[in-house]
Amino acid sequence: MSDGRAAERVAKFIKPLRVKPGSTVDLTEDFDPRYKAGMKKREGVELLRTGVSLLADHQARLAAQDTYGVLFCLQAIDAGGKDGTIRHVMSGVNPQGVRVSGFKVPSAEELDHDYLWRYAQRLPSRGEIGIFNRSHYEEVLVVRVHPENLDRQKLPEEAKGPDVWDRRYREINDWERYLTDNGIKVVKVFLNLSEEEQRLRFLKRIDRPEKNWKFSAADVRERERWDDYQEAFSEMLSATSTPWAPWYVVPADRKWFARICAAAVLAHALIGIDPQYPSLDGKARKELLAARRGLEAEAP
Ligand code: AMP
Ligand code: MG
Repeated sequence: MSDGRAAERVAKFIKPLRVKPGSTVDLTEDFDPRYKAGMKKREGVELLRTGVSLLADHQARLAAQDTYGVLFCLQAIDAGGKDGTIRHVMSGVNPQGVRVSGFKVPSAEELDHDYLWRYAQRLPSRGEIGIFNRSHYEEVLVVRVHPENLDRQKLPEEAKGPDVWDRRYREINDWERYLTDNGIKVVKVFLNLSEEEQRLRFLKRIDRPEKNWKFSAADVRERERWDDYQEAFSEMLSATSTPWAPWYVVPADRKWFARICAAAVLAHALIGIDPQYPSLDGKARKELLAARRGLEAEAP
């Protein structure tokens, strides 16, 4: 497939997943976790392979060009499939060009700073793809569903009012715009899992010894807050899907399909950047040729 055709195909494929900036999202109404674009798993596996090699090629050029960085944010409810998505989507790329950062309950040091501080510390450099396994969006998700997290953030009284969430949406949008304007492209994927599929995945984590480590009793308590999370997700998607960093809602009930979608969203961003290997100017080219002659002259 030609590059132009691949680019077109990727763009068309991810279009239904995009949250139109300015639109109001009702997650349960507007996005189906079981959607699979009429695709069969066998076709999907083939397509993922194509996507992964396209990513590898673009990542090599991104690194060589050393001008743009890509921040790939993955958000999902527990058992949404973040870890597996990262493993599969990045399977073909050079590990030197990728940095994965996971975000858990903030440490004492992190709580002693403004809330975006720990995320800013993990941003990708130019030429790099940075992956956030959970991201700054936790600051308007788990922190909102469990406001005691906000209490731990040691904010001054005037920063804790009822407008705190709207303010955070604005601050996050501004931060992402700043990053975009400075060559760090922000790509955001939300893995949309159904309540029933989460139940089945939790059961597997309990029943299979090699999956036990992924499960904790707290996960079931979080599940009791399902509706509150769906509401927080909907508000987040509505408020923070922007022209410079739109959200993509990926149907997550079928892991194989979610992985194709995530790879396609990342590929779309890289195709948009269209990174190029640096070309040498006349002087550098001459130096290179002189070095070549020298090496040839050394031949035994
Ligand atoms: P896991 O991804 O399963 O290892 O779990 C990480 C845990 O950290 C989850 O329960 C998140 O809700 C929690 N977490 C992540 N970010 C924050 C945050 N900013 N404030 C409070 N809890 C968080
Ligand atoms: Mg967990």
